[in-house]
Amino acid sequence: MKSRRDFLLELGGSAFSLPILSSLTSNDADATIADKQLKVVLVGLGSYAERVATAMKDCKKAKLVGGVTGTPSKIDTWSSKFGVDKANFYSYKDFEKLKDNPDVDAVYITLPNSMHHEYVIRAAKMGKHVICEKPMSVSVKQAEEMIAACKKAGVKLYIGYRMHFEPYTRELIRMRKAGELGKIMHVNAYFGFKSGDPNQWRLKKALAGGGALMDVGIYCINAARYATGEEPVWISAEEAKTDPVKFKEVDETITWQMGFPSGVIASCATTYNFNNFERLYVVGDKGFVELSPAYGYGPIKGRTHKGEMSWDTSKMHQTWQMDGLADCILNGKPDPNVTGEEGLKDMKIIDAIYKSIAAGGKKIML
Ligand code: NAD
Repeated sequence: MKSRRDFLLELGGSAFSLPILSSLTSNDADATIADKQLKVVLVGLGSYAERVATAMKDCKKAKLVGGVTGTPSKIDTWSSKFGVDKANFYSYKDFEKLKDNPDVDAVYITLPNSMHHEYVIRAAKMGKHVICEKPMSVSVKQAEEMIAACKKAGVKLYIGYRMHFEPYTRELIRMRKAGELGKIMHVNAYFGFKSGDPNQWRLKKALAGGGALMDVGIYCINAARYATGEEPVWISAEEAKTDPVKFKEVDETITWQMGFPSGVIASCATTYNFNNFERLYVVGDKGFVELSPAYGYGPIKGRTHKGEMSWDTSKMHQTWQMDGLADCILNGKPDPNVTGEEGLKDMKIIDAIYKSIAAGGKKIML
């Protein structure tokens, strides 16, 4: 018997043209609601995947239905902890078997950075929508290939930029767009932490691609873009390396400036070697927004020229994110600024930052 998904594919659309389908089969209200949930498999069941899985317990429009892991012992734990059917767990070798599982709409890649490229492309080839963690890749070329593969396969590619779904950040963006800050005059963004285990993949270039910049500095790059609503035209950067042994392969602390067409300069920094470093300060000629903390798991806190900000902090960021992405995929809501193309813009900026450092802080034009 044909599944609803097969039927849709035959109609020539993706399996996500579900609003049409809902009206076709609205005789079963429960099935309709269930079918309108985005069914997601997490790939790489590490610490971030666990956070996403926990957050998804509270999702209304997205549902965790499986996992891909190289550690079979995780299947029992994950199955009981998150209520996932054991039949929906796969090894990396069996990844392509997901293609034949009609209950999987999208895969969420939560592997180390250098593995994103391979798994996004493999997922796209199976016709599954893809959500990929940040940084989307370890090079501009990889990012372009990932976008091209998803485009060719007709699937969505989203990057895990959860801040775009978080209420304080959304309010900042709303205020900027509404002109409540006036003309943006300056952005100051920094984010970092002291990394622990010297043997972790984050400190290995082959797996991480880079250090603090790729991992958490990317939040500041993205924030400078959503705080100004502009794309930078030049970059200059310098690196401070106070522990050349631990940070032999990847960057430790980087400061950089991003120049925008309006003339605004964003002053940014990131680190893997100290704590208490997390802020986004956006100053316009009519007002300001200061978020601190600004990018961590929350609660985000902030104030503006009007006083303390007070927004909903009751949900995990990933709950908002996954319900938001489900709405885009299932219900055709406009894509937020978290598409593969947005990830590529950040990768180009990262590339320019490393080029500037290599050239002794030279201004790199974008
Ligand atoms: P992690 O080390 O906790 O998990 C990585 C997973 O990948 C593990 O399950 C590990 O077994 C698996 N893996 C498969 N092959 C591997 C290999 N060759 N080497 C190492 N691990 C391998 O890492 P994490 O903190 O969960 O990060 C995973 C991804 O999620 C990264 O891209 C990271 O940037 C991203 N992340 C995003 C956020 C966010 O807030 N958006 C937060 C943390 C991490």
